[in-house]
Amino acid sequence: MTFPIPAGCLAVVERLASSGFPSYLVGGCVRDLCRGVAPHDYDLTTPATPEQMQKAFAGLRVIGTGIAHGTLTVLSDGAAYEVTTYRVDGKYSDGRHPDGVRFTASLEEDLVRRDFTVNAMAYSPREGLIDLFGGQADLAAGIIRAVGEPERRFQEDALRIMRALRFASTLGFEIEENTAAALRRLAPTVLRVSPERIREELLKLLSGASSEKVLRAYRDVLCAAVPALAPIGETWDGAASAAAKLASDPTLALAALSRPLGEDATSALFRSLRTDKKSERRATAAVAALDAGLPADVSDAGLFLVGYGQPTALDALALADAYADPGTETARQALAAFRATGRPTSLSALALRGDDLAAVGIPSGPARGETLSRLLALAATGKVANERDALLAGALDLETGKRE
Ligand code: ATP
Ligand code: MG
Repeated sequence: MTFPIPAGCLAVVERLASSGFPSYLVGGCVRDLCRGVAPHDYDLTTPATPEQMQKAFAGLRVIGTGIAHGTLTVLSDGAAYEVTTYRVDGKYSDGRHPDGVRFTASLEEDLVRRDFTVNAMAYSPREGLIDLFGGQADLAAGIIRAVGEPERRFQEDALRIMRALRFASTLGFEIEENTAAALRRLAPTVLRVSPERIREELLKLLSGASSEKVLRAYRDVLCAAVPALAPIGETWDGAASAAAKLASDPTLALAALSRPLGEDATSALFRSLRTDKKSERRATAAVAALDAGLPADVSDAGLFLVGYGQPTALDALALADAYADPGTETARQALAAFRATGRPTSLSALALRGDDLAAVGIPSGPARGETLSRLLALAATGKVANERDALLAGALDLETGKRE
């Protein structure tokens, strides 16, 4: 079996070979090559120590990214390759990280520490595929299977539980029976893993083509791993199917999953996963806008856009669509019809400035801001034209109580 390998990657292999060291492509890239999918990056493994690699790579740009763990990044032919010394992970006393790593001269030892059979294959142009644990057969059968004893492997590193679900979703694979049973038993131990790493796997899971199936089948595992999801309860399956429709936008997919929880719990869920503020606000606003009710006519649409803004309106529509909410199509049409009116939805688009209000005797201060907001609502709903004179007249009406 031979795979097409980028020239830069072959050059790295050649450099190491010239210094007397074998090296192999390993992990995700080999899995993807076997599936006939272009790898998004290429990782290599070698018995050379980082020091020996530095010598072999003399003249190339090398970055000492993870030197303590034996990893160097080398730039070759315009691409970056991560090269790691064969490694044995030390004891995992906390179920999160190995207490230390030890280099080894054995490729087999390096492969046996890896998580799943499909991720534990190596390849070199010279020797072809090295598949010690039946990774190719599992790939062909569509199976995620732990390397070695599943219970022990998940005890070592509980992140592997989330990774199993992630790969099942992205590859559309089944999790092998014993592997699945072990990860169900140990699901609560995922809580020991950092929220950032749980989030990363959860978002990848949500981006997968088989996310709905995995979400449904492993609800208990996910709720143990991310307790903020547990209150979704009986609405889980519907939420899972809505989330799956938004797989191309995992943040929104998570908002869809979280929708039954409402605005505050959605914010809490995102914060518990330590997402960036922008994603948290985006998801929370979309759920809030949806809960407030989608617009049913042009005038509603104006107020909706004034209140939530165009990006949130689009997100809320996408959520409503994913849930097949009645009223989605009406709202879409109302928003489109509103856009055609050219009415303003923000103070910056209002044809009147605060200073203009001074001319009619409205003093600066909070009252002026309040008046501007009310004028914006009137202009957005078409009750007053977005023209300076009409807005000034509207302001006077508000002042004198002629208009509510
Ligand atoms: P992706 O396509 O998302 O990059 P990947 O399989 O390359 O998937 P990485 O997280 O990049 O995943 O890890 C590279 C390789 O390192 C894996 O294929 C696997 O062999 C090994 N690996 C990564 N994380 C773990 C882990 N927690 N436990 C055991 N092996 C792991
Ligand atoms: Mg990878």
